[in-house]
Amino acid sequence: MTVSDLAEQLRNGDRRALAKAITLVESQNPDHQESKAELLDRLYSEPRLKTTRLGISGTPGVGKSTLIEAIGTKLIAQGQCVAVLAVDPSSAISRGSILGDKTRMPTLAVSEDAYVRPSPARGGLGGITSATAATITCCEAAGFGFVIVETVGIGQSETAVAGVADLFLLLHSPGAGDELQGIKRGVMELADRVAVTKADGELLPAARRAQAELRSALHLMRPKPGRTMTEVDLVSAVTGEGLDDLLESLVQQHDALQLSGQLQQIRREQALDQLEAAMTDGLRAAAFQTGAPVLRHRLREAVVGNKKAPLAAAIEWLSKEVQLPPPHPTEINAITLGVADMACSIDFYASLGMGIKFRAPDDSFATMTHGDNFVNLEKNEEPGTDWGRVILFVPDPDVIHDRAVKAGWTPEAEPRDAPWGERYFHLRDPDGHELSFARRI
Ligand code: GDP
Repeated sequence: MTVSDLAEQLRNGDRRALAKAITLVESQNPDHQESKAELLDRLYSEPRLKTTRLGISGTPGVGKSTLIEAIGTKLIAQGQCVAVLAVDPSSAISRGSILGDKTRMPTLAVSEDAYVRPSPARGGLGGITSATAATITCCEAAGFGFVIVETVGIGQSETAVAGVADLFLLLHSPGAGDELQGIKRGVMELADRVAVTKADGELLPAARRAQAELRSALHLMRPKPGRTMTEVDLVSAVTGEGLDDLLESLVQQHDALQLSGQLQQIRREQALDQLEAAMTDGLRAAAFQTGAPVLRHRLREAVVGNKKAPLAAAIEWLSKEVQLPPPHPTEINAITLGVADMACSIDFYASLGMGIKFRAPDDSFATMTHGDNFVNLEKNEEPGTDWGRVILFVPDPDVIHDRAVKAGWTPEAEPRDAPWGERYFHLRDPDGHELSFARRI
């Protein structure tokens, strides 16, 4: 089946296609990455602001699955399609998923309008957050307008879930006092709402006390930018007490985010964070694959043998293995130069760390950039030096000098300090243009 067929079936709400699509986006197999990217691109381009992504977290036993079963059933009765994705970071270790087990949500598990599935505990590029975001994309494309992402409150999983959710609901058990102290402040600050569970029967007084303590704890914290004070609700999944109010408040909160434009902003920032995280992971993996294993091995030995400090070893490794992008010059400079041999000139400027912004197919023209500097190269049968000297202001001329020498070019002179304070050196390009790289003081 082609990726386009799969996307089409998924959009028609085909369950098997959804399962297949999620398996594909979770796959770490290098052979699947291209199809994965194509599928996600096809699904991602559709606007999905109408959907709601609710993150729910709480310690094991707090009542997550019972609550999700109850509110999921209510949402379905209101005509929604509900997907429940369970992120369980412990399953990578225990190999058994304590979340996402369908017996925990018996009604949702068999409902036509619900989809319950564990999300991968390990995420590949960009970690759990990116993997869960990709699964959400599939569910939304398949018509699930309400996505609940559930996680056990351990480790970094709350942050991962908050990184894909529009709203984050933290569940708290009726225990108070000492237990409250155990909640990490960072997690409380992620919450858009807190609900004390099991507010029924003999647990009700304890639940009320927990509510009061949580309220005063939250008063001491700053709400998220642009948000109001985090509310604390009392709910019972057993009696149903407080559930309608909780759901209604969540829907209202979501509507308000949408109306104010904050929802777009949140999702934009989340998408950019996922992009950065995935790129960083990819770079890290690539660096360790291509970086000289011998040097890495030698540095590891040196650190273990107390011969090198870890940071010093890392600096050495980076300086040898990683080509950092050129530091940006501080001033804008654009110039057009006549050149005789385009390929040769492009090689020259590229070896100095300049990027090719544009190159005409017939090599009549090219634009090279170095930070904000533009050097336009124009094919000219009689290239000359009539432009005089080109001065490019850069933060560190020595870096450019070293690069030029490494690339085999011979500078006219070593970098030196001019009497008026600038540090500079001269270099001729293949057409005889005289370039100066200078650090302005
Ligand atoms: P999870 O581990 O967070 O998913 O917690 P569960 O939903 O599995 O609930 C843990 C235990 O708490 C179960 O024995 C539930 O029956 C019980 N429980 C859940 N919700 C409520 C509630 O609203 N009231 C009472 N009294 N017990 C509840």
